[in-house]
Amino acid sequence: MDQHIPYKIYLEEQEMPVNWYNVRADMKNKPAPLLNPGTGKPLSVAELSPIFCEELAKQELDDDTPEIPIPEEIRNFYKMYRPSPLVRAYCLEKKLQTPAHIYYKFEGNNTSGSHKLNSAIAQAYYAKKQGLRGVTTETGAGQWGTALSMACSYFDLDCQVYMVKVSYEQKPFRREVMRTYGAKVTPSPSMETEIGRKINAEFPGTTGSLGCAISEAVEAAVSQEGYRYVLGSVLNQVLLHQSIIGLETKAALDKYGVKADMIIGCAGGGSNLGGLISPFVGQMLRGEADYQIIAVEPASCPSLTRGKYAYDFCDTGKVCPLAKMYTLGSGFIPSANHAGGLRYHGMSSIVSQLYDDGYLQARSVEQTAVFEAAEMFARVEGILPAPESSHAIRVAIDEALRCKETGEAKNIVFGLTGTGYFDMVAYEKYNNREMSDYIPTDEDIAKSLASLPVIPE
Ligand SMILES: *Cc1c(COP(=O)(O)O)cnc(C)c1O
Repeated sequence: MDQHIPYKIYLEEQEMPVNWYNVRADMKNKPAPLLNPGTGKPLSVAELSPIFCEELAKQELDDDTPEIPIPEEIRNFYKMYRPSPLVRAYCLEKKLQTPAHIYYKFEGNNTSGSHKLNSAIAQAYYAKKQGLRGVTTETGAGQWGTALSMACSYFDLDCQVYMVKVSYEQKPFRREVMRTYGAKVTPSPSMETEIGRKINAEFPGTTGSLGCAISEAVEAAVSQEGYRYVLGSVLNQVLLHQSIIGLETKAALDKYGVKADMIIGCAGGGSNLGGLISPFVGQMLRGEADYQIIAVEPASCPSLTRGKYAYDFCDTGKVCPLAKMYTLGSGFIPSANHAGGLRYHGMSSIVSQLYDDGYLQARSVEQTAVFEAAEMFARVEGILPAPESSHAIRVAIDEALRCKETGEAKNIVFGLTGTGYFDMVAYEKYNNREMSDYIPTDEDIAKSLASLPVIPE
């Protein structure tokens, strides 16, 4: 064992970043702007303000300010669970007999169990500061809804969550955590919104999708006085807030003089990955350093590896602005046997542009291989990982095994975004050997891509 690096590298409280880092400021090719679906023109802060809080609308469109101060109230909340540890995975290295050095940034040490709280608290803060009554949102498996309900109760804001119906029914525990924090949780599609009633009429018995829950939450926000909509991933503002993950990771590595060779993150909507890699990509963009960056996605929902880089709807109901991103089409729904999260059809515009410009690679992995990695990690490192995070574990293990063949002692850093205590139905399937893999066919993907919007000239 490499004695000079502790198992857990903790930063001191006063070493926690005081600014978020906005990687867009260093991007030569800026991410494409959000478009008004009616006019095909980029949206202004004024047009976004009925949907988002004003300060968040400004952050969404700010491509130029590199550092944005983290308000003191948010930093005080962060101090309850941050700085989060960067862990040297000595036990995993030993198990793999690899010369590689593996590090993971652990974001699961809060009640919501994931990195999503980093942005939830920021979004709740700006809503409160604007004098709003509450916020609406959607949640799939429930991590975002849980994080947001915690943040809203801290700032005494009303929180309305549209939860994908299949998860609402199959994941009662997350639902109850949200209710414990005071959120109102509605299964989606519901009969409470126009779009929900429409989808229910069109697809009787549907168990819902994220895209559909987004449409309902947006409708609920714009139709109630003093409410705005908030989103837990994909958006530029969310990646900005999540930059705290990367800034802390870099500070911890710098503290011990370690230079990462490879940085790996799982990619759903791209927020943890974007946040983790931001300061490192910033160095690449400025020509100061080089890293191999790998985004890992499920083979059953492969937006980067098999999607198209195009403007698309962010939601099924087509009420949201259009975003340019790697997408599988807004109607894409992963197959029913998919248990591992990361099921959004599109990808953050920032991550998409960086990928298109060659700053990162993407790899897709099948879920049984993901759970094998999760099991190994749980047994040697002690933490029961979220299925989403386990996509990154899979590729970190694969790369560490490759180092074993080549004899290279690479420094591999990956994001461990959360814990998996609420995902035991998926683990049960895996343990019972009932888990299977499904890879969508080219026809499946072509079919959902056929409904990409036509942008008005
Ligand atoms: C939501 C979530 C993700 C995926 O979301 P991104 O926006 O891609 O980061 C990954 N891991 C965990 C634990 C999550 O809750």
